[in-house]
Formats: sequence, structure tokens, C-alpha cells
Amino acid sequence: MSPARDPFSAGRFRLRALNGSDEFLLDAADPRAPHALLRRLVLEGGDIDALTIAEYDRLLAAVFEALYGDQVEARTQCAACSEPLDISLSLAALAAAPPDVAIELAGPDERGTFLLPDGRRIRAPTVGDVEHAVRSADIAALRHACVLEGDADADPELLDAALEAAAPALTRDVTATCPHCAAAQPVRFDLANFLVASLARERPFLLREMHLLARAYGWSLAEILSLNRDDRRALARLCEAERAAARRAA
Ligand SMILES: [Zn+2]
Repeated sequence: MSPARDPFSAGRFRLRALNGSDEFLLDAADPRAPHALLRRLVLEGGDIDALTIAEYDRLLAAVFEALYGDQVEARTQCAACSEPLDISLSLAALAAAPPDVAIELAGPDERGTFLLPDGRRIRAPTVGDVEHAVRSADIAALRHACVLEGDADADPELLDAALEAAAPALTRDVTATCPHCAAAQPVRFDLANFLVASLARERPFLLREMHLLARAYGWSLAEILSLNRDDRRALARLCEAERAAARRAA
């Protein structure tokens, strides 16, 4: 069986295409699922924990785009009338939009640091910083890690806005208008959760494709899961077509 092919680039990273193992091993209930997925897919460029939040989210966006394209179609519920509310957005447009916070940040300089209006100097928060703060339930740890010059405990609201502006996440409020009651409302879009949920929804199809290939070719589970997603789907379609033709002939 050929291994997954067609590596693609995202910023300074090279990622490989998803194969069946990546999809089969995905645990949608695990908050670290996006992490685990990226760790498996990144070929070169290194340490996920050292990525800034902005770099990390843009890697996830590259994975999403390779799978589903740039357009995100999501369904939620209207906060006013509880009817279904569809949102549609372009990942590229979302990534290009300024972050939700309004703050004047100077930088980054050649060291990658930013200067706040009050004279403090910060660096962009990394995935490792956030993980550590979450594990220790200590948001102050994140501020202390990222403030390079000045008081990390002063004006936390300004500091948090600066940290967000230094590495804008692709977790954003998108404005949507309900088609039923016309209420305009912010809808929270979280790319990491959306990517994991999109893959998890496809699990019944993955199992069906695995079943068809195992029956048709007698391959082992490992062999089937080593196929990349496009090849697996193409072969499963052939199996379906063959079965349909056999049914017509019978
Ligand atoms: Zn409504």
C-alpha cells in the first residue's frame, strides 16, 4: 500500500495529507484532539508547543482547507427565537480580518516582540504557554510568561487584549442575522472545534468505506487505514459501483 502522499505547505510547515489512521484515531471528546491531529500531520517545521496561537490556528485552517475548502458552513441556533441559524464564512477572510480587540501594538520587532502603549514589552503567546496556564488553572502564568519588560500584573485587561492582538486566534465572533426573526447576533466560531466536529461527523462514512475495502480486497485494518482519504474514498466508490452492477445483473 502506498503511504499518504501529496504533502502540502502551510507557512513554514510541511504537512502530509490525512490518512485513515488520522481519522480513525481522532477522539472528538478529547479537548487535545486538534493537537494530536496536527502532531501527526506536521512533517517538518517542528514543535507544535512552540507555535504562537496565530500560527497554530493557521495550520488548522490549512488542514481544514485541504479537506473541505475555504468555505465554512455551520449551523447553530438563534439566541432569540431558537430556530436554526446557518452561518457561512471564508477561512481566508476570517484569517485576514483584524482581531476582535482594538489596541495599538508596535511590532513585531526583529526578535518578534511587541510594545504596548504603556511601555511594556511582550512576546506572542505560544500553544505551550496556553497549555501550561490551562493545566495549572493559572491565567496569570500566561501573562508572566509573555511579558518580557514591565509589570505582568498591571492592567490585565489591556495586557490580555495585547496578547490576543499579538497572535490573533481564529476563534472569532461572527455576526449573523436570523432569517426567522431578523435578530442580529454574534456567533462564536471556534476553528479547532469545528474541524474536529467535521471529521467526527464523517465517522460512519469512514467505517462504511473500511468495511467495503476489507470485503473487496481482504486488506488488513492497518493497510486500509494507511490509504489516504482520497484514495480510500475513490476505491470505496468503485466497490459500491461494482456491487450496484452485480445487483442489476442478478
Ligand atoms: Zn431568530
